[in-house]
Amino acid sequence: MEGNCVLSDGEVAENVAAVRAEIAEACAEAGRDPSSVRLVAVSKFHPAGAVLAAMGAGQLLFGENRVQEAASKFASLPESAELHMIGSLQRNKVRAALSIRQLSAIESVDRLPLLEEIERACASLGRNVDVLLEIHAGEESKAGFRSEDDVRSALSALACGSFPHVRVRGLMAMAPNVVDRAAVRAAFGSVRRLRDRMAAEFPSLPLGELSMGMSGDFREGIAEGATVVRVGTAIFGRRA
Ligand SMILES: *Cc1c(COP(=O)(O)O)cnc(C)c1O
Repeated sequence: MEGNCVLSDGEVAENVAAVRAEIAEACAEAGRDPSSVRLVAVSKFHPAGAVLAAMGAGQLLFGENRVQEAASKFASLPESAELHMIGSLQRNKVRAALSIRQLSAIESVDRLPLLEEIERACASLGRNVDVLLEIHAGEESKAGFRSEDDVRSALSALACGSFPHVRVRGLMAMAPNVVDRAAVRAAFGSVRRLRDRMAAEFPSLPLGELSMGMSGDFREGIAEGATVVRVGTAIFGRRA
């Protein structure tokens, strides 16, 4: 894509290794096992060839935020790739997203009607999907549940079996885009505490996953308990 700084396959592979090393370092600092954090390589705006380069370096899990782009890119990619949708999802794109054969999770479920649509589409396609509930934690991004009551209603519907094809796994959040590292950590910490409260209220739901942290703040995410970090720029280079 015009304006992208295209990295060579070797550079992408080096970046995957460097990010993995940084994740391990952040885990060590936090007294955590590095295998407790999964890396989602965010390939949005980058071509299928970049994804293949990362796969060559052992990275199999990717993130995309636009359904159409993901569908056409992943059509040409191997089954062994795994895809998470991480961007705002319109209801009329849900079926297309769930039709991508490598899709395993939708991390950005931010409202109840979207959950209803995901259930409908899964039922008609005869598949299940994992989801995370996205929590609004920063001023810049408009996405995400804003009130604890709305999160509770969604989880309560999930716990009651209203969405049998949907398996909720935890929460996702983007930190406010600020230079103040303490503010970033505080935002992630409040999402973790929300998850802890919800896990106590809904013991039947597996809410172990916390997707928190991007290129600029995955260390803070890991310090606050992230089990998933979503890293694009530090692996694939700048986007247009
Ligand atoms: C683009 C994106 C990322 C990756 O951001 P980088 O700063 O490039 O690492 C992570 N999460 C979401 C939701 C995104 O849209």
